[in-house]
Amino acid sequence: MNQSSGAAYNEPPYLSVVIPVYNEEENLPELGRRLFATLDKLNQPYEIVFVDDGSSDRSWEIISRMYQDHSGQVHGLQFIRNFGQHPAIFAGFQAARGQVIVTLDADLQNPPEEIPKLLAKLAEGYDTVGGWRETRRDSFFRRLPSAFINWLMSKVTGVHLKDYGCMLRAYRREVIDSINQCHESTSFIPALANMFSRRIAEVPVRHEERTRGKSKYSLVKLIRLNFDFMTGFSHLPIHAVGILGLLIAIIGLGFGLFLIIRRFWVGPEVEGVFTLFAILFVFSGLQMFGLALIGEYVGRIYREVRQRPRFVVREELGNSGE
Ligand code: UDP
Ligand code: MG
Repeated sequence: MNQSSGAAYNEPPYLSVVIPVYNEEENLPELGRRLFATLDKLNQPYEIVFVDDGSSDRSWEIISRMYQDHSGQVHGLQFIRNFGQHPAIFAGFQAARGQVIVTLDADLQNPPEEIPKLLAKLAEGYDTVGGWRETRRDSFFRRLPSAFINWLMSKVTGVHLKDYGCMLRAYRREVIDSINQCHESTSFIPALANMFSRRIAEVPVRHEERTRGKSKYSLVKLIRLNFDFMTGFSHLPIHAVGILGLLIAIIGLGFGLFLIIRRFWVGPEVEGVFTLFAILFVFSGLQMFGLALIGEYVGRIYREVRQRPRFVVREELGNSGE
């Protein structure tokens, strides 16, 4: 951060666009072209913060070239390895200096031309404006888990959004400052932003098919992200297990009482041994599940206590002016 480059860095820009990039060499040139074209029309100073999340292709090369061609408007960060989309956005937030911050995917599924729409809504006095993919161009198997997750997130956070998964979003500086104060290592940015926003709006945005490169999210990665979210934002799972355990215990007690009374009436039952086995299995299964969940929380406490950095930057282009 001790580089001295163009005067453009001295003054914070109006807008920062934060883009996580993981092996997007096929998309970056077009993304850059369309972004610059759109942002130039705003007639406001802006910066684009590219965060290379440990790409193994030519992504960083392309970002470096953009930095040379548009010095003062491009800021690049390169991670030493892949840390994930959300840590990459966190890094971008820390580097961003704009009064307004927009996030965007690098794969052109979020058309850059929609950015002015978000900005206009934000200017109406909202703190966070989310894009909402009216017609989502993803496969059914990518949409199905998203629909479930969206429902769950609305329930858990108490903020109903049509689309928690859309990363084309705009935030006011104050929201980003609050997010930057969070030091938890696993998090889900749209949910976190809701916690720090008073007024939240959603606007419909176009969504395009990914024409180049592959989706970086496998089902396993998606499940992990959402498990992070569930345990990171609520104690709902552990409450549910607690209630279920209590219910089963009460039913088991009732059943035991019934067996005792029956013993006085008709005498001891022979097959009862099997029933007891069944009850035992139910209980030990429940205990194991409960233990695993507690273990998950304890593991998370351990991880937070360690305070490992969320990401490590290898190289940085452009001066953040600090
Ligand atoms: N991404 C990233 N790190 C990752 C996975 C994804 O920086 O580990 C970036 C990726 O380059 C893209 C955005 O996050 O800009 C969304 O990823 P993708 O398009 O693969 O997700 P999907 O659209 O399938 O949800
Ligand atoms: Mg995508």
